[in-house]
Amino acid sequence: MMKKRIAILGSTGSIGTQTIDVLDAVGAEVAALTGNRNVKRMEEQVRKLRPKLAVLSDEAAAKELRIALADTSVEVCAGEEGLRRAATMESAELVVTAVVGMVGLVPTLEAIAAGKDIALANKETLVCAGELVMQAAQEKGVKILPVDSEHSAVFQCAQARGENPLAKIILTASGGPFFGKTRAELASVTLEQALRHPNWSMGAKITIDSATMFNKGLELIEAMWLYGLPPEAIDIVIHRESIVHSLIEFADGAVLAQLGLPDMRLPIQYALTYPERVPCKVPHLSLAEIGKLTFFTPDEEAFPALRIARNAAGERGNACAILNGANEAAVDLFLHDKIGFLEIPELVERALADVPRCGGLTLAQVLEADAMARETVYSAR
Ligand code: NDP
Ligand code: MG
Repeated sequence: MMKKRIAILGSTGSIGTQTIDVLDAVGAEVAALTGNRNVKRMEEQVRKLRPKLAVLSDEAAAKELRIALADTSVEVCAGEEGLRRAATMESAELVVTAVVGMVGLVPTLEAIAAGKDIALANKETLVCAGELVMQAAQEKGVKILPVDSEHSAVFQCAQARGENPLAKIILTASGGPFFGKTRAELASVTLEQALRHPNWSMGAKITIDSATMFNKGLELIEAMWLYGLPPEAIDIVIHRESIVHSLIEFADGAVLAQLGLPDMRLPIQYALTYPERVPCKVPHLSLAEIGKLTFFTPDEEAFPALRIARNAAGERGNACAILNGANEAAVDLFLHDKIGFLEIPELVERALADVPRCGGLTLAQVLEADAMARETVYSAR
């Protein structure tokens, strides 16, 4: 088999490093790597994988990296321009989008325009501009392969659908560190507690999103775009063990699920080897050892994020871009100890109330909605 040539945007992060961990199994070689500030990890990755291009978005970090790699022939770039170049490398046929946040949007659109398949982890891109991304992918005939475990589960199950449409998607949610807490109890939870996820080790932003349940709200919107279903056809069920990664339902009521231990390397690897499967490092599942699997209805009173996201999803236009931008800003404030946990959904709702809507959706409108939503959140503090 020919080696697949890939670029990894966000290689220094949680998904990025796990992608590198499955490269040997996948038989892929790397054309470009990008990060933001982590000079040390990027230097290690570059020395191991020898890409043509290494990018750190932060200018000072990129300067440091250039000095550190002076003895190699690897080109080092900075800023948005660097990210864009990595996304459109001639020598890559697939781009793994593993940066965090809507900064991934423009590079993803450029990668699609350049005809690259996308292994998509960066859900914020689909949340704020799903319509634009899916349309561009269709026009260019490129694949959007989901990396997010729930969406990968749906994708894997859907291989068995034949010509049948999906009647429903059921996304599972771990419930995060605060499952079972009341609204009153959530008022006093700390940043440190919010960062302690029971089942997954992930970047800080998505870990907070899991605690507020905005992660599942974003995933509902992500699923809507990936699979062309309205929000009403996407259910959320709490599943504490994170073994059933998600399910699909057909018209006759038959339900298919994908199961496995909670480990992102399997969905990452499948996005890279699809439609083939090859052995994966992830330990195999023993159901008898697990014993029992539990399921609950989400508590939307304590975790309003699901309701907020579902409403924005139903609106279309720029509502989801507002939701996403406001959430990124609110999580940033929470991570810097500037606001309390319950203020995250409050600030997102305020942005949705304050930022004007627009009918259609162009890239400029997405960027504007995002900027206005952030402004609303930061100026409320
Ligand atoms: P991390 O925070 O661990 O990594 C983010 C990556 O993006 C790093 O390489 C980081 O660089 C880079 N980055 C951060 N800010 C910028 C910026 N402004 N410009 C350019 N690059 C930037 O995040 P995760 O790996 O956890 O998540 C990545 C994406 O995947 C998110 O969209 C998340 O929702 C999604 N996802 C993650 C899962 C997980 O298990 N982690 C599961 C499912 C989806 P540096 O290291 O230098 O800061
Ligand atoms: Mg997920």
